[in-house]
Amino acid sequence: AIVVVGSVNADLVTRVPAHPAPGETVLADGMTVLPGGKGANQAVVAARLGGDVALVGAVGTDAFAAAALPGLRRAGVDLSALATVPGPTGVALVSVDDDGENAIVVVPGANGSVDATTVARHTELVAGAAVVVVQGEIPVAGTDTAARAATGRVLLNLAPVVPVGRGTLALADPLVVNAGEAWRLLTEAGRPVPEGEPFAVVTELRDLGPRSVVLTLGGAGAVALDDDGAPVVVPAPVVQAVDTTGAGDAFVGALAWRLAEGDALVDAVRTAVRVGAFSVTAHGAQPSFPTAGDELPV
Ligand code: ADP
Repeated sequence: AIVVVGSVNADLVTRVPAHPAPGETVLADGMTVLPGGKGANQAVVAARLGGDVALVGAVGTDAFAAAALPGLRRAGVDLSALATVPGPTGVALVSVDDDGENAIVVVPGANGSVDATTVARHTELVAGAAVVVVQGEIPVAGTDTAARAATGRVLLNLAPVVPVGRGTLALADPLVVNAGEAWRLLTEAGRPVPEGEPFAVVTELRDLGPRSVVLTLGGAGAVALDDDGAPVVVPAPVVQAVDTTGAGDAFVGALAWRLAEGDALVDAVRTAVRVGAFSVTAHGAQPSFPTAGDELPV
């Protein structure tokens, strides 16, 4: 089974012609409220594709909790380890421009309660998972506790980049980051960041200690570096991108599903780039994710 320990949000999504510059006001057509949060999104993808998925996380007691959960419920994600805590649910303010690029402000709310104590309550669930998936939208101590409790594979998606413990990084198999996160991670580690050289970037990332590394490159696909070999480029299918929101989550959820099914890393990445590409062809995060019956682009 797959256990995702991570965030659950309500996404307040607007479409704008172009993102506002600081001090500027732009008008949007309207707003939709969609279920989101990296943890929830990744759990939904893995479950929709056929994975057996549980989510450890929290929502609040406000009206946004109801908006955050339908996607998880419909996908059949086990929510027995999802807490309801007093206070607001996590919210993401998402704007998407005409080029499909997004700008996002996240208010953690209840996700802030998913700390070491909360995660430790679910040690048995986490320890029983073939793949444990963590991201950067809950307190670092919660992520570190989940990684320590894992007996299966740890998929560490450092999105956003947060200062996880060395032990967590050392367990990552793989560490998954996009180009911006890779840049930040290497800069914060005081390492020179190779310009426009994905092979050099994944090699530098592996030197930070993870067992394996996957660097996602948007429309260019991904580069995988397993513990035993040389970096492998996996191109993404060419598609018409309308909204990239959730592409990274689609990728990570699919990767977790394939790894839980026993695929080798590069094979899992081959499926994940197709699922990521599928997700950019429709608006929203969860509404854009495929289900098991959907044909993926090649
Ligand atoms: P993030 O969403 O975290 O910024 P990326 O932009 O690297 O991450 O996208 C993650 C994955 O989604 C890519 O590896 C790819 O499979 C898919 N993807 C993203 N943008 C495109 C695109 N324009 N065309 C095809 N696939 C895409």
